[in-house]
Order: sequence, then C-alpha cells, then structure tokens
Amino acid sequence: METDADVLIIGAGPAGSVAASILQREGFRLLVVEKQQFPRFVIGESLLPRIMNILRDAGLLEVVQKQKFMRKTGAMFFRADDTCDFDFSAQSGDGWDHTFQVPRADFDKTLADTVADRGVEIRYGHAVTAVRFEDGIASVAIEDPDHNVRTLKAKFVLDCSGYGRVLPKLLDLEKPSTQPFREALFTHVTGDHRPDGPGQGKIWICVHQDNAWIWIIPFSNGKTSVGVVARPEFFAKYPGEPADQLRAILSSDPNATARLGDTQFAFPPRRIGGYSCSVKQLYGPGFALAGNASEFLDPVFSSGVTLAMESGLRAAKVLTKQLRGQSVDWQTEYADHLMQGVNTFRTYVNAWYDGTLCNIFFAPNKDPQIMRNICSVLAGYVWDKSNTYVTQAERALSVISRVVASS
Ligand SMILES: Cc1cc2nc3c(=O)[nH]c(=O)nc-3n(C[C@H](O)[C@H](O)[C@H](O)COP(=O)(O)OP(=O)(O)OC[C@H]3O[C@@H](n4cnc5c(N)ncnc54)[C@H](O)[C@@H]3O)c2cc1C
Repeated sequence: METDADVLIIGAGPAGSVAASILQREGFRLLVVEKQQFPRFVIGESLLPRIMNILRDAGLLEVVQKQKFMRKTGAMFFRADDTCDFDFSAQSGDGWDHTFQVPRADFDKTLADTVADRGVEIRYGHAVTAVRFEDGIASVAIEDPDHNVRTLKAKFVLDCSGYGRVLPKLLDLEKPSTQPFREALFTHVTGDHRPDGPGQGKIWICVHQDNAWIWIIPFSNGKTSVGVVARPEFFAKYPGEPADQLRAILSSDPNATARLGDTQFAFPPRRIGGYSCSVKQLYGPGFALAGNASEFLDPVFSSGVTLAMESGLRAAKVLTKQLRGQSVDWQTEYADHLMQGVNTFRTYVNAWYDGTLCNIFFAPNKDPQIMRNICSVLAGYVWDKSNTYVTQAERALSVISRVVASS
C-alpha cells in the first residue's frame, strides 16, 4: 500500500528532533507533525552531560555548541547551612564534564531547524487527533490550523508528543505514575546574584521545608529559571496570587534569598501539576512511545530531556533495522534499555523524597569515591553497568545512608 511517509513523528521537541535526525540520515521518508508554532515555551531547562553523547550520535552537537548556552559544570545542593557541591569533572567514569542550561524555546528550535534544514518536513500548527492501525499501516488524522482534518498513511508512528501524550490517550495506554501528585510554580527572573567563576552555571537545588525544593537555573541571556516543587498542601499554606506565593516561598529560604532577593519576574509565575506519568507499554505493532509520551518521573534530577533524547535515539535505531527488514526485538532493544535508565532515576527520585539522599549529600564526612559514583548518575550516566550506584542503586544508597546516619 502507498504511504505518505515511512515514519510519522508526533512532536518536534527533543525526542522528536533526535529521532528525526537519525532517521533522516538513514534516508527514510519522514513527516514531523507539531501542534504548536516554534519557538514555544516548555519547562525543562537544565540538561545533563549524558545529553552531549546523544547529541553527538545524532549529529546535533556542533549546532548546539554554537549557540553559546550557559555552560553547566555541576549541581549544588543547599539545606540551611549545609551544602553539597557536585562537579561533573569529578564523576567516576569518563563522561562529559559539562553540558548546558537552556531556555527550551531556543534549544528546541535550534534542534528542529537543524533537522528541517537537512530535509525533514515539519508541519507546525498541525495536531494529530486520531490514529488507526490496519494491515501494517497507520492512518493518522491531522488537523491543520484552519481545523481541516486530513488523513495520512505511514508505516510507523513514533509518538514524541511530550505532555500531549497522544498515543497513550488514543490507545488507552495510560498507567498511574509511581510518584504522588506534585506541583511546580515557576518563572524566569532578572537580577539574580550569581557566584563568580566557573561554578556560575551550576544548577542550585535548595531543600526547603515539608519536602519542597527550589531550583535556580542560570541562562546565558541574563535570565534565570526559578521554580518550587512541592505537594499541593504546601502551596495552600501561601495565600494570594501565584506571584505572591512564589515571592513568599523564595523569601522564606535563606539560600534562595541570598541569590534572588531583589530579582524581577520576567513573566507571571506558571503552575504545572500532576506531570508524573507512566504507560502500560512502550511499543506495539506500528508504533513506539518516546520522551514524555512514555514515562516521566519528576523534575528533581533533570532527567526528562536526557530520557527523551535517549528514547528518541534508541527508537530511531531499532526502527532503522526494522524498516530495512532486519529482525528486531523492541522489548530488549528498546523497552528494557529505556526502563533501565528510568528505574535508576526512579530510585534516586524516591531516595530524594524519603530523605536518604539528603543524609548522604549533607553528611559532614563524605566518601569521595561514593560521591564520584553518585555524581556520574547525576550526570545522566544511568546505563553505566560498571557503577554500583547504577546497578545496585537502591541497596547502595540505603547502606551508605545508614552508615552516615550512625557515624
Ligand atoms: C516542573 C518541571 C521541571 C522540569 N525540569 C527539567 C529539567 O530541568 N531538565 C530536564 O531534562 N527535564 C525537565 N523536565 C522534564 C521536561 O520538561 C521533559 O522531560 C521534556 O520536555 C520532554 O521532551 P519531549 O521531547 O518528550 O516532549 P516536549 O518537549 O514536551 O515536546 C513535545 C511536542 O509535542 C507537541 N505535541 C503535543 N501534542 C501534539 C499533537 N496532538 N500533535 C502534534 N504535536 C503535538 C508539543 O507541542 C511539543 O512541542 C521538567 C518537567 C517539569 C514538569
């Protein structure tokens, strides 16, 4: 049967652009359908060094390096007077020692424009509204900006629709997340008092009361992303408009105040809640899910874009083999691989909220080798089988947390 494309990709975020880059290089006929016009705002601005490997594999590293985004060399954690400083140059393994902090509107447009320049058709302002799989062909209904709907046929649909979660909704694949409902309240600010020197690009994470925490992500354009993550009960204690709430929360944190005391909000704070999500399956006949259209855990360790790009890359590689008529095993080659990374991050997210990681991070005498291993995980190297803090993460973190608590 005639098709309009070999692969139809839903969404031109990081997962979609990385997949498109690989598949275009392999010579397939592609169509990317993107609901919004770019540049568009999306949250998720602190990258991990592991992304540099993915960008290089996808042929997108150079174009990102040319953008002069803020160089991120690590992460600093604060809890009142305690600090924990991770520098990616001190990680175990041979991972990248830096990455970038990026306004996503610019970053995502850079990636999408690059793949478009290489010949990939991206239809902006077009939304996928329905899909049907029959006789090995996908029929995909696409609504244009004038609300006309046309059906196109493709051999495969790769869902990279992020928070849109197109196929999970259309195919009844949604599954509750293992994470409880949390919310984030965030904006960009100007006037941030940054530390001098190479550490100025590090992300700051300030541990607040009631399991809440604050992110501070500096950009090279002079603005800084600031947000608070907590359960709804925490935000309910702060009356007023979102701007009043965010100001009050930041003012009640000594580390955030020192840096953000006299900043101005670049736009009224936005709220996003219930973002943690999961799916019953990551692939099926004629489709696969990548990025936030699959599972998203939590913002705390900036895992989202890394997992989005890794899944886009991996799905494109498996799909390349399949479209060439080779036998593939989506379970082992795609789903198991992706879940290895997701589950390692899950262990760290759980250990963050149950206090295990804070015990380790803020212990007075930290073991340098253990911190190097943990640093490698925080750099996104969650597929490194030589790191015990990957392969036996839960056990390793629990043992070391008990050791530091009793010493
Ligand atoms: C509060 C918060 C903070 C975060 N902070 C970080 C961070 O610091 N670092 C990090 O790595 N991650 C972070 N994340 C996660 C990050 O936002 C996501 O993991 C990342 O954006 C996922 O990329 P993606 O390519 O899967 O989807 P997206 O970037 O969301 O792109 C999906 C695209 O699909 C399009 N689309 C949707 N529906 C349709 C449709 N029907 N038809 C066509 N197109 C459609 C959308 O318009 C969008 O452009 C954070 C998340 C939250 C909630």
